[in-house]
Amino acid sequence: MRLKRALLVLTTGIASALPSGATEGQELLQAASGVVEPFRVIGNIYYVGSQYGSYLITTPEGHILHDTGSADMHDLIVSNVEKLGFSVRDIRIMISSHAHWDHVQGHAAMKRVTSAQVVALGGDAVALGSGQDNSALGAEGWEPVTVDRVVQDGDTVTLGGVTLRALWTGGHTQGATMWVTSVEERGNSYSVAFRGGEIPNAGVQLFNNPRHLTVVADTQRTLERLKELEPPDLFLHNHPQDPAPELDPALPVDPRCVTCLDGEGWRSLVARVEASFDAMLREAEGR
Ligand SMILES: [Zn+2]
Repeated sequence: MRLKRALLVLTTGIASALPSGATEGQELLQAASGVVEPFRVIGNIYYVGSQYGSYLITTPEGHILHDTGSADMHDLIVSNVEKLGFSVRDIRIMISSHAHWDHVQGHAAMKRVTSAQVVALGGDAVALGSGQDNSALGAEGWEPVTVDRVVQDGDTVTLGGVTLRALWTGGHTQGATMWVTSVEERGNSYSVAFRGGEIPNAGVQLFNNPRHLTVVADTQRTLERLKELEPPDLFLHNHPQDPAPELDPALPVDPRCVTCLDGEGWRSLVARVEASFDAMLREAEGR
């Protein structure tokens, strides 16, 4: 029997105090709420998040932070980074999966303590700067934060020998971005993709949505693109998964990683979300 990988939950009770607007993974929140001990996932990538994902990518010339979670996660991310023996003041670049409150609400506070360069793509850059969710969902916002560099599909971010490439996966938000890189572990190289987003949240207005008029076309384009991609060796989700995904035993990741999916897990996620989007479209079109 396989031991279920579990989050190290030290305290509970955060989920009930979360702001409204959560439409993703409510059950997971219940299961995963609380303080998660930070750990090294693989290579130079560390999990420093909590009920929402946040990853630290370390380099000899400073670090990159992927997602800052909800505003109430700020202190925890700071202490997680320090617990791992790194300094938050060495964070030079902040990137994100997509501009929804549960992934970028902590950006402004994190920028204040790090002076890091905030990087975002297209409509997500607009959302970060305005503090307003401009996705089809239109949920609660965040403290506006200055975006220092607006990237386009295919652009790269490089620091200390680490390069991440931005893959536009618009639909869930206007500028949802899958960041792709590679890491070395035990003498092998692994391709790693950080989740951007795939399809709009359930229940959103798909046609003539004033915030995101092209949400259907963007999502269809994203799904086609994801299906054409070579599956990454490791896909890092931005929400903890419950139950924890089964992983290829040859993949050398920390067994506590409940946000880790292997190539097979990623493939089935893409198939699942495509089926969900088909159902959403059928319903919206009254078919
Ligand atoms: Zn989202």
